[in-house]
Amino acid sequence: MNKPAARAEIFSVPLYIGGESKLAGFEKPTKLSSNEGAFGPPPGALKAISEAAASMHRYPDGGALKLRQAIGAKFGLDPERIVCGNGSDEILTLLIQSYGGPGTELIMSEHGFSIYEISGKLAGCTVLKAPEKDLTTDVDAILALVSPATRMVFIANPNNPTGTMLGQGEMERLRSGLPAHVLLVLDAAYSEYVERADYDAGVKLVDAGENTVMTRTFSKIFGMGGARLGWGYAPPAVVDVLNRVRPPFPINNFAAAAGIAALEEPGWLEMSRAHNGAERRRLAERLAQSGLKVIPSEANFILVDFVTTERAGAADAHLRRHGIIVRQVKSYGLPHCLRITIGTSEECSRVAELLAEFCHG
Ligand SMILES: *Cc1c(COP(=O)(O)O)cnc(C)c1O
Repeated sequence: MNKPAARAEIFSVPLYIGGESKLAGFEKPTKLSSNEGAFGPPPGALKAISEAAASMHRYPDGGALKLRQAIGAKFGLDPERIVCGNGSDEILTLLIQSYGGPGTELIMSEHGFSIYEISGKLAGCTVLKAPEKDLTTDVDAILALVSPATRMVFIANPNNPTGTMLGQGEMERLRSGLPAHVLLVLDAAYSEYVERADYDAGVKLVDAGENTVMTRTFSKIFGMGGARLGWGYAPPAVVDVLNRVRPPFPINNFAAAAGIAALEEPGWLEMSRAHNGAERRRLAERLAQSGLKVIPSEANFILVDFVTTERAGAADAHLRRHGIIVRQVKSYGLPHCLRITIGTSEECSRVAELLAEFCHG
């Protein structure tokens, strides 16, 4: 060895590729590739950031107490059981570093969110993927993978990139089928968009025991992905672990101020949820009328099945020629599908028109 060598598992993981935002020939392409919400950031959050700028020389509160109190007040949760992170990605990664590691197994769903696999492998875990039924998490397939080495199970509910979800009955069946020492992580990044009545974001299972964690984010319905702000709601012992392993100052002053203001923005959640539900239904119907197969979604995006990789690629190219970027999901094992974020009404109409043209033209 004549040069420094990083740990081998670092190279077992492909680089995370985020949604594209640039398109040659278009100064301002329509970006429907990262589920960023249809309305931009809440106005109050912008104002709060500029006001926070004057005290930039002050270190943040590492424990983000005011933000945790605001989250607790908004969602009816005990602030002592909340931990904030630099995006919910950070909470997910810290959980894996704390409860996973070499010799342990982490279970996720076949088309589950990629961070679980990336962070799991980087931490030295063996990552196992349970097959899905109809692009939906299959509780029995997950339980069948449990072994003495299993330490963690990750479920995004609703899942990204499929948009499908598990009802509370299935989630409870999963929890009660898992050994008590296995940590179940419910990633509820899209929970605010769910309309199905049999849904719980995770609070009930967190409160019911000591082995379930829920993660949430400001990146999707609150339109603050660039601020990097997420949080976890966990049993006291898990909160204690997260507070020991987290960086001393994970939340900067601006993100904290913006987050508090976003939670207080009048009507923001209600408006965003109503818009998303209506536009998601409308877009799904119009795409179905064009003969496309749309996977039922509870999130702020829809997954469209073009049957073959070639046809998905051609549809993607057609949208791009007209300035619209959606998400290819090849890395999720779905090369025949495209994931389309629900944008403004105009953006959704444009996607529907262009894909109708693609199908009939
Ligand atoms: C977007 C997303 C996240 C990441 O959120 P951040 O808070 O921006 O890190 C987590 N989980 C799922 C399923 C997501 O789609």
